[in-house]
Amino acid sequence: MPDPYGQLLDATIQHLEDLKSRGVRHITVAPGTLRALAQPPAAKSPISNPKSQMDKTITPPPSLLSAISAPGPSPKPAELSLALPGETQSAAADPLSPVEKAAAFAALRERALACAKCPHLASSRKSVVFGVGSIDAQLMFVGEAPGADEDEQGEPFVGKAGQLLTKIIQATGLSRADVYIANILKCRPDTPGQTAGNRKPTSDEMATCIPYLHEQIDLIRPKVIMALGATAVEGLLGKTLGITKLRGTWKTYRGTPLMPTYHPAYLLRNQAMSEKRKVWEDMLAVMEKLEMPISEKQRNYFLKA
Ligand code: URA
Repeated sequence: MPDPYGQLLDATIQHLEDLKSRGVRHITVAPGTLRALAQPPAAKSPISNPKSQMDKTITPPPSLLSAISAPGPSPKPAELSLALPGETQSAAADPLSPVEKAAAFAALRERALACAKCPHLASSRKSVVFGVGSIDAQLMFVGEAPGADEDEQGEPFVGKAGQLLTKIIQATGLSRADVYIANILKCRPDTPGQTAGNRKPTSDEMATCIPYLHEQIDLIRPKVIMALGATAVEGLLGKTLGITKLRGTWKTYRGTPLMPTYHPAYLLRNQAMSEKRKVWEDMLAVMEKLEMPISEKQRNYFLKA
């Protein structure tokens, strides 16, 4: 039988889930209530049993913590977002403090590293490839899924395609440490009976894993997302047009501008200068959106002399 505080948390989560299933997307919560929910109850709490609670530290479950935007100094009621992927994120939601953000990100990482929701992937993987870079990044790259190199090293985009992505990032004047890089899937899609090669994630695998990415994006709050390839666009926006039609056109992911572009692996397969230029043009559009300085030399990359 859960303790009274656990019962209250369970009931709160259930209530929020009910509201969400009935179409409610935002609720208003007083800062004091959020603060009280995010802290373990004191021994004198009316809902705690002094005898059983005295020497125990009770931590709210991550599902509740991650749902709660802890209030800033503002006395305004905070908005708790129940928005679904693809819906506009509440601009009114107060951002977390740097300490709260780092803690929430670490807790999310811990959950992802222990995930076994896809038993076939959990048993075949060497690593859970959570993501890399700055959690304060203005620019976030989203790819498809780890390959063999990423599975080996536990870091996204470190193989051949990753090295090309790193060069593209560096050509903007940024480094991998300035941006955040993650994938739709955190585990390498298994390839039973094959010694090499990759496969596209299934829709079930994508649907199972995507909540981790949504939470990463919600915490990082990048100004721009660059979706690398068709699977990344499908994971973030749902099925739309093919990547050839989509690339270079601004989309929106829950209020955040999203630029679809080709996956770097495509550029390795198709070495044509014209394709490299297209990705670079998408990158220039992202740099403009972020108000980054752009030199003449940068503007002219991959243009014929
Ligand atoms: N391709 C991806 O989509 N992601 C990686 O991390 C590596 C290769």
